[in-house]
Amino acid sequence: MIIYNLLWKNMSKKKENLMEKIVSLCKRRGFIFPGSEIYGGMANSWDYGPYGAELKKNIADRWWKTFVQEREDIVGIDSAIITNPKVWEASGHVANFNDPLVDCLKCKARHRGDKLLEEKIGVDETNKISFEEIGGKMKELGIACPTCGGVDWTEARKFNLLFETHIGVLADKKHTAYLRGETAQGIFINFKNILDTQQMKLPFGIAQIGKAFRNEITPKNFIFRTREFEQMEIEYFIRPPKDEKDWRGPFEKWQKDIKNFFEKDLGISSKNMRWRRHDDNERSFYSKDTYDVEYNYPTLGWGELHGFAYRTDYDLKQHIEFSGADLYYREENGDKFIPHCIEPSFGLTRTLLAVLLEFYTEEEVKAAGGETETRVVMKFPKHLSPIKVAILPLSKKEDLMKVSQKIFADLRPHFMTEHHTSGSIGKRYRKQDEIGTPFCVTVDFESLEDKAVTVRDRDTMKQERVKIKDLADYLKNKFEE
Ligand code: ATP
Repeated sequence: MIIYNLLWKNMSKKKENLMEKIVSLCKRRGFIFPGSEIYGGMANSWDYGPYGAELKKNIADRWWKTFVQEREDIVGIDSAIITNPKVWEASGHVANFNDPLVDCLKCKARHRGDKLLEEKIGVDETNKISFEEIGGKMKELGIACPTCGGVDWTEARKFNLLFETHIGVLADKKHTAYLRGETAQGIFINFKNILDTQQMKLPFGIAQIGKAFRNEITPKNFIFRTREFEQMEIEYFIRPPKDEKDWRGPFEKWQKDIKNFFEKDLGISSKNMRWRRHDDNERSFYSKDTYDVEYNYPTLGWGELHGFAYRTDYDLKQHIEFSGADLYYREENGDKFIPHCIEPSFGLTRTLLAVLLEFYTEEEVKAAGGETETRVVMKFPKHLSPIKVAILPLSKKEDLMKVSQKIFADLRPHFMTEHHTSGSIGKRYRKQDEIGTPFCVTVDFESLEDKAVTVRDRDTMKQERVKIKDLADYLKNKFEE
């Protein structure tokens, strides 16, 4: 038992270290910076640097390609962030989008009661506890305040997560609006526009990628929980089912598509992911079946990466009731009905965190002097890598620079390419490994004679001599492999 405990401690220490290493690498190398840093920072706000922005875009592009470009049954939209407040009344967010806020009576810090309970007794047990019981249960279980260690809690109070803002010059109730709490509602309110303009026949989906905002009580774990984040959501509309198999069929098909996206498109290992089904206590009253797809995040354990639900006709019905708009689907024979909806909801920024953790690799390698050193490599799938090719001339001498600058200019239209001249070649390789660049091209003095360069493969570190005139095609083939 002692050995097991030690082992477990070491393992979780290792995992904690991994998150620390990722945070530090992200800042050091230009993936993600703490937000508003020159003004002393702002808690849990993050800015994406050149490599982070590129990686995020690459994940989003692959998602769009898989679910919009390659499918004839899904169209994409880009709706407004600031919407009529009635949208959020209709969706239920104004009344129900609440987290249980508890105050520590000792240090006055505020926390999410349900999350602290989950850490202590797990999600399933926490779901059995009603809102009113949360404060008492926390005291009974001796849950310590993460800020001061005290165990004296207030009762839970409802805290609405919608971000309020005001339209125009008057900051009063009449002019209140909300930043969208999810991208999904932008889809439902455009349902009629899509029917009117796009010739979509059921079943069909509407997809959207964009920012969402939630006034989270305890944002934490780097970019896992932030107040401003990005989602990639699809509302997939089906005919009202006559029996369970009518919705179970497309629901299960979607489960396969989601799994394929994470495993095949992004290369995330199935052993780091699991599907957790909501029980009756956790599931929304209008949903017939809901899952969280979870990733095994270091420091945090299993945490939600993706939400998946069959939402029945709840959302369209609500918008019909609140807006009076005709959101019915009409058959050619004149029959009309409200479609039902299956919702795969991807968190783009949480997926980006999973990708960073998944592909961070440390390898023992032999250095030039024969000693062993640790090589840090981001082994991203090539299509996700922020930079695809780095051109590294061995010297800054004019004749060499001329050749390498020409290669740089020729490759830029095809690939995200960098040209780096400073530091030893070893240091430059190390940087490119850390940002996950699949290929480094070295230009040396021999290049002037043989009109060829050396291409180094990130994963195998093998080097190959390639004629400069063949380089673009050589690399294109490599990216298609
Ligand atoms: P959680 O239980 O972690 O608060 P949720 O159930 O409220 O998440 P959903 O409303 O299902 O999340 O949102 C869909 C997806 O959006 C989530 O699976 C997650 O990937 C992402 N997401 C939600 N809230 C945040 C946040 N505060 N920061 C980053 N990503 C988020």
